[in-house]
Amino acid sequence: MPAMATETDTRLTRATERAPTSWGMGDGQAVPWEYAAAPESPDVVNLKERYGLFIGGREVEASDGGTFATVNPATEETLARVAKATPADIDKAVRAARRAQRRSWGTLAGKERAKYLFRIARILQERSREFAVLETMDSGKPIKESRDVDVPLAAAHFWYYAGWADKLEYAFPGRVARPLGVAAQVIPWNFPLLMLSWKIAPALAAGNTVVLKPASTTPLSALLFADVCRQADLPPGVVNIVPGPGEIGMHLVTHPGVDKVAFTGSTEIGKRIAKGVAGTDKGLTLELGGKAANIVFDDAPLDQAVEGIVNGIYFNQGEVCCAGSRLLVQESIHDTLVEKLKDRLSTIRVGDPLDKNTDVGAINSKAQLEKISELVAAGTAEGAEIYQPACDLPVRGWFFRPTLFTGVAQSHRIAREEIFGPVLSVLTFRTPDEAVEKANNTPYGLSAGIWTDKGSRILHMVRCMKAGVVWANTFNRFDPTSPFGGYKESGFGREGGMHGLHAYVRLDDR
Ligand code: NDP
Repeated sequence: MPAMATETDTRLTRATERAPTSWGMGDGQAVPWEYAAAPESPDVVNLKERYGLFIGGREVEASDGGTFATVNPATEETLARVAKATPADIDKAVRAARRAQRRSWGTLAGKERAKYLFRIARILQERSREFAVLETMDSGKPIKESRDVDVPLAAAHFWYYAGWADKLEYAFPGRVARPLGVAAQVIPWNFPLLMLSWKIAPALAAGNTVVLKPASTTPLSALLFADVCRQADLPPGVVNIVPGPGEIGMHLVTHPGVDKVAFTGSTEIGKRIAKGVAGTDKGLTLELGGKAANIVFDDAPLDQAVEGIVNGIYFNQGEVCCAGSRLLVQESIHDTLVEKLKDRLSTIRVGDPLDKNTDVGAINSKAQLEKISELVAAGTAEGAEIYQPACDLPVRGWFFRPTLFTGVAQSHRIAREEIFGPVLSVLTFRTPDEAVEKANNTPYGLSAGIWTDKGSRILHMVRCMKAGVVWANTFNRFDPTSPFGGYKESGFGREGGMHGLHAYVRLDDR
C-alpha cells in the first residue's frame, strides 16, 4: 500500500459533525466520517516473475529473448517482466492464427463456438476477483471499478456474443455471414481486459481468429486471459497475445497475413494505422479519442447531475475516451452547480487503488501524468480558474488531484485537447442553440451527455449532437448489447451489439 504524505489526512478534519446521543458515542463526540482503510489483498493473484508471449496455445519466449518491465503505477514497483514480441514473433502468431482459422475455428459450427465463449465467460466470472486485483495492480484503477465495472462487463461481452455465434443468420437476415479470417487487434491501457473482450468476443463469435497486442503498460490481464483460453480448451492459435512496443503494433496491423484490423487508442496512432492499411482490402475499425460535452440545462435535477458529472470525468481517473471532460452549464445555474461540484469534489477519496474506498486511483504511467500536468499548467496560464480539493496524495506512485477549471473559453487547450485525466473544464451557454454549437465545436465526436427535466428537449438535443453515444440524465453507462463508436476524429465503426459483429463478417448473398 502506498505511504501517505502526512499522518494527518485533511479529510479527517471534516469529522466535526456531532453524533446524536442515540448513537451512544458520548456527549459532544464527533462523527468519525472517514472510512478505515479496506485494502483488497493482492494474494489472490499468483504473480509470476516472468510472462511469455501466447502463441499457438503455448507460452513462448520472444524470438530474441527480449523482455520489458510492467510497473504498478501506484507504487512504481516492477510487477513482472514480460516477453517483448519481435517481427518474427508476429509472423509466427499470424501463421498460428491462420492455421487455426482454416483448420479448426473457421469450420466449427456456430453452436460449438458458442460453447467455448460461454465457457470463457463463466471462467472470467469464477476468476473475477483475481482479474480485478491484477487489473488494478497493473493499471492503477480503483479496485471498486475493476471489480464492479471492468471484469463483469468483460464477462458480459463473452456471454452476449456467445449468444450470437449460432444465430448469425438472424443478425444478418437474407445474407450469409462468413468470417473475415485473422483479426489484428491493438488495445489501450485504460480498460485493458474490457477492451480485450470488446475485440475478442465478437471476432471469435463470427469465426475469426485473433492476434492481440495489449498496451505496454498493462499487459498482465491479457496474459492472464491466455490462461483462461487454455482452461477453456480453446483450440491452439484461435487467440494469440503478443505484448510489445508500438512499432510491433504497426508491424501486426500491416502484416499481409491479417484480414481485419481493430484499434482503440489515440487519434494520432489511429491516423497512422489508417495510413498503414490504406490500399489493402483489410477491414478497419478505429475507436479513438474524445472531448465529450456534458450539457446541464437549468431545469436539470442538480444533485443527480452532480453525481453524473463526477462519474463522467473522475471515473477511471478520467482516463476514458468518452469522458465528459467539457461541462456546458446553462448560465443561470452556473454558480449553484459549481458550488455543489466543489463540495462533492472534497469528498472524493484519492489514493491506494487496492483500497475498496478509493474513488480515484493512480494515473497509468509517468508519461500520462506529465501530459495531464502539462495541460493543467496550460489551463492556468491561459487564464482559467483552477480548483482542486485539499487532499494528500500518496508519496510514491503517479497520482493527480481531481481538478475543476471554471472560466474556460472555447479557445483554451483544456477545452479542445483530450487530457485523459481527472480534469473538468466548465463552460457556459445561454440557449439550447448555443449549447449545440459549443458541444459540436470539436474535432471529436464520441459521446455527449444531456441533463434536463424535459423529454422533448432530450430528443431534440440527441438529434443535434454529432456524437456516437448520447446519454440522457446519466453518463458512462455501458452494455454489451449497445453499440459504441464515434464520428470525425473519434474514429469509425461500432463495437458492441449486433453492429459489433458486422465488423467481423463478410456478407454474401444466399
Ligand atoms: P496510444 O494510442 O499510443 O496506445 C494505444 C495502443 O496502440 C497501445 O497498445 C500502443 O502500444 C499501441 N501503439 C502505439 N504506437 C503504435 C503504432 N505506431 N502502431 C500501432 N500501435 C501502436 O496511446 P498512448 O498510450 O500513447 O496515450 C497517448 C494519448 O492517447 C493519451 O494521453 C490519450 O489522450 C489517448 N488515448 C486514448 C485512448 C482511447 O481509448 N481513446 C486510449 C489510450 C490513450 P504501446 O502501449 O506499446 O505504446
